[in-house]
Amino acid sequence: MSTDRAPDRSDAVDEPRAWVEIDGDAILRNLDTLRAALPPDTRLIPMVKADGYGLGVRRLVRLVDERDPWAWGVATVAEGLELRRLGQERPILVFSPVSPGEEVRAIRGRLTPCLSDVEALVRLRSAAEEVGVPVEAHLEVDTGMGRAGLRWDRVHEWASYLVEATSRDCEGDDSGRGAGVALTGIFTHFHSADEDQGRARETIDEQRDRFDRARSALAPVLAPDPVVHLANSAAALRDGAAGGTAVRPGIFLYGGHVGPDLPAPEPVVRVRARVIRVVNVPEGATLGYGATHQARAPERWATLAIGYGDGLPRRLSNRGCVGVHGCRAPIVGRISMDTSVVDITGLPSTRPGDVATIVGRPDDGAPSLDRIATEAETISYEILTGLSPRLPRRWLPQT
Ligand SMILES: *Cc1c(COP(=O)(O)O)cnc(C)c1O
Repeated sequence: MSTDRAPDRSDAVDEPRAWVEIDGDAILRNLDTLRAALPPDTRLIPMVKADGYGLGVRRLVRLVDERDPWAWGVATVAEGLELRRLGQERPILVFSPVSPGEEVRAIRGRLTPCLSDVEALVRLRSAAEEVGVPVEAHLEVDTGMGRAGLRWDRVHEWASYLVEATSRDCEGDDSGRGAGVALTGIFTHFHSADEDQGRARETIDEQRDRFDRARSALAPVLAPDPVVHLANSAAALRDGAAGGTAVRPGIFLYGGHVGPDLPAPEPVVRVRARVIRVVNVPEGATLGYGATHQARAPERWATLAIGYGDGLPRRLSNRGCVGVHGCRAPIVGRISMDTSVVDITGLPSTRPGDVATIVGRPDDGAPSLDRIATEAETISYEILTGLSPRLPRRWLPQT
C-alpha cells in the first residue's frame, strides 16, 4: 500500500507520531441510517458529551449541525458552556445531575438541566430567582438504570412537592414558563437496549411501561407538550422513538455497533501511528517491561509511536494486533506509555516513518473499533473516549 509509505523527509517533520482520522461523511450517513428508523417528526438530540465521544466536539457539532438537530446532549455544565462558547444556539441538555452550586452558571449559559429530585428542582428555582430569568429543565424518571432520576415507583410521593416547586399556579399562567422552573421535558434511559435481542426487548418493554405510568402521574407538573425522550442508539434502531417525541443517539453515529441483530454503522475512526524503529533480533531477545515476550527464533520487531498514554489499552499487551501495510502484526511484550512493539517477522519490508493502523477497516489489516474493544475487554465507548489529547484529530475532507 503506497499510501502507508514514509513521506520524504521534508514532509515527515510536520507529521505527528500518531493521530486519529475521522470520517465526517460517515458520521452523517450513520445519522441518516438511524433517522430512517424513526417516525418522521422525531426530534434529534445528538449526544456529544465527553468532547464528542473523544472525536473533538468543535468539529463534530459544526458537522452534525447540518442535519438540523433539535438540541445537543452533554454530561456536564462545563461541556454545555463550551458549546455556547462555540456559538451554538440550540437547546443544550445537561444529563448528569448538576452539582449544588453550579446552577447559576448553568442558567447563565442558557443550559437545560436534567433533574433527578425535588431538592435539585428547589435549588434550580432559587438560582433562577437569583438570576431573574425563567428556566427550563427536563425531569428524569429512573425506571431501572439506578444512577439518576426520580424512581418510577415513588413519583406519586413526589408529585405534590413538584407541583409546589414548579409553582406554575402562582403565576396564574399555565404555560409552565412564567414562573421559576418549567419542566418542558421528561425522559428515561434504557439499561439493556444493546444486549441480545430477547433481553433488550423484555427490558425495554418493562422500562417503557414504568415510564408511561410515571409520566401520567407527573403530567400535572409538566409544561404543556413536553419533549419526551427514551431511546439511545440501540433503542432507536430497535424501536424508533420508543414512544417518545425525541431520541438521544450517540455511539452509533461514531461508528460503534450496538447489537449483533442491528444495522452496522459505517466505520468513522481510524487510529494510526508511525513506525519509529525496526530491529532484527536473535532468538532469546527479550521485550518490554517484565520481559514478558522472548523471541523463540530470530524475529523482526517494529516499535510504534503509540502507547497507553495515547489511549492504546495496556490490556492489549501480548494479545492485540495492528495493521502494517495491510497485514496483521501482533502486539508483542507489554505496551509502554509512549510506545508499543509489533512482530513484523515475515511482513513486507517496513521502515521507520511508515504508518501502522491501530483501529481501522478490514483492508487495513487492523481490528475494527468494536474488535479492539472486545480484545481489550471493554466497549467502543471507552476506546473512543480514552484516545488522549496527545493524538491530533484529523478530519478527512468532506466529499
Ligand atoms: C450517553 C447517553 C446516551 C447515548 O447513548 P448511546 O448508547 O451512545 O447511543 C443517551 N442518553 C443518555 C442519558 C446518555 O447519557
